[in-house]
Amino acid sequence: MNNFYINKRVNPKGLKRNEYDVVIIGAGIGGLTCGCYLAKAGLKVLIVEQHYKVGGYCTSFKRDGFTFDATTHYIGGLRENGPLRRIYNELGLDSKVEIIRFNPTNVVIFPERKIHIWTDIEATIYELQENFKHEAKNIKKFFDFILNSEYAHFYVKLKNKTFEDFLNIYFKDEQLKSILEIFLFNIGLPPSRASALASAILYREFVLDGGYYPRGGAQRFSDAFAKRFEELGGEILLKTKVKKIVIKNQQAKGVIIEGNEFISSKIVVSNADATKTWFQLVGKEHLSTKFIKKIDSLEVSPSGFFVYLGLNKDYSKILKNRCSWGCLLNNTLSIEEIFSNLNRKNKPYVEDFILCVFPSSHDSSLAPPHNEIIILFIPAKLVDDSCNFWETEKHYIAEEILKKAEIFIPDISNSITVKEIATPLTLYKYTLNRNGAYGWASTTLQVDKNTMPYRTPINSLCLTGQWVTLGVGQGGISTVAYCGKTVATSIIKDLNFKR
Ligand SMILES: Cc1cc2nc3c(=O)[nH]c(=O)nc-3n(C[C@H](O)[C@H](O)[C@H](O)COP(=O)(O)OP(=O)(O)OC[C@H]3O[C@@H](n4cnc5c(N)ncnc54)[C@H](O)[C@@H]3O)c2cc1C
Repeated sequence: MNNFYINKRVNPKGLKRNEYDVVIIGAGIGGLTCGCYLAKAGLKVLIVEQHYKVGGYCTSFKRDGFTFDATTHYIGGLRENGPLRRIYNELGLDSKVEIIRFNPTNVVIFPERKIHIWTDIEATIYELQENFKHEAKNIKKFFDFILNSEYAHFYVKLKNKTFEDFLNIYFKDEQLKSILEIFLFNIGLPPSRASALASAILYREFVLDGGYYPRGGAQRFSDAFAKRFEELGGEILLKTKVKKIVIKNQQAKGVIIEGNEFISSKIVVSNADATKTWFQLVGKEHLSTKFIKKIDSLEVSPSGFFVYLGLNKDYSKILKNRCSWGCLLNNTLSIEEIFSNLNRKNKPYVEDFILCVFPSSHDSSLAPPHNEIIILFIPAKLVDDSCNFWETEKHYIAEEILKKAEIFIPDISNSITVKEIATPLTLYKYTLNRNGAYGWASTTLQVDKNTMPYRTPINSLCLTGQWVTLGVGQGGISTVAYCGKTVATSIIKDLNFKR
């Protein structure tokens, strides 16, 4: 992709090159979706992105013939009429990237049993019931509630509960509860801290409606949004960091980019990390003490540690159902204890759980013939003073993860031709998200809509993406796309009203 690709079409509204209706900071899925809807409504929109490619966390990189996704293992919300499918159809993205779906989508692997999550939800419920016959009725009730409740009902029933409280309403069997708790690796909190509301939405929109994958990798997905945005008249400036949002009389007037160029706009939307947006791009001088204190008090989500492997081996005949495997290594500890380990100061990562994903098993274009990609992931944290820790410990931790992966994937260490590692620090460096996080931690106290709404105390400045709280829990590609659409719809309404 070019590093600077301003759209060459004559601007129908006769605005000058440096004047836009909307400038969006960041070309993550939250910023790109927002940009597409704004451009579709005829607005002159510029997206400024600091990286040399679009997508934020939803990107891929290539090494020696292998294409690795940086963080995305699959996408949710793409069922017919699902939140992301509607966006996909409205923006006409189906012609740009093919979405495939693998089945099963997940396998939960405990030392003594395996449970599959199938694309057919009834099959999943049946398998759980067969494994836990004494909980069969409760399993049905639990999934009925998750799948068929109106959002308002969810809200009333779950708002102040943790996932632990939620499971205790339905189940007594500790192992069944552990199996259901495993998926909290997506939220990065132990069951006693994860919001029940966020967890129920995670189940409905991601675990039970997951397994969707853009053929060619995550980058193809982001590129499809970017191409559509340009077709609609939008402009993207890559490799350019926004240094400041210009505020006059509590009103955003535009942005200053590297090189000190001022770009004027009626509205500024930040898809960037919220703390950086407020404290660096806006500046504390424009914020009330109460608002500063609120931001300081919020907790961010954990991050992740990845080992990306290109293997000169084809596992198709050796391993069945290669999809997203959530593997528990130690069943003497509860999931509560395992995920609480993230808070250890000297070892801020999870040791007894690994997610193993096999992207080339459902998309052979990602690896050379008869080769395979396997990505190993564990939840991990970047606490403010742990940068050195990740730099010095990453190779040791990767080796430990590989040894553990051998339990499930025979001979993995002897088949490696490409190996890359990403720590929370790497994720921070590429996206500038605080601590390599994926938004605010989805605790009961922080999922409320008002924690960080997209409308801000500064006029004409909105937020979009994973740092916006929509009341459903943070992060996830489907959620940030929905957020982008919501923000765009609100801006379009406001601008039409003013005309
Ligand atoms: C470890 C991990 C695993 C995940 N796995 C999945 C998964 O399997 N499935 C799923 O659906 N979701 C997953 N997620 C979550 C999902 O990827 C994110 O929630 C989502 O992609 C965030 O999109 P966004 O647009 O809000 O932000 P981002 O993707 O962070 O995009 C923000 C963009 O802003 C740019 N930017 C920042 N500051 C500036 C600046 N000053 N000037 C210019 N540009 C700037 C950044 O470079 C970046 O491109 C995962 C996240 C993580 C961290």
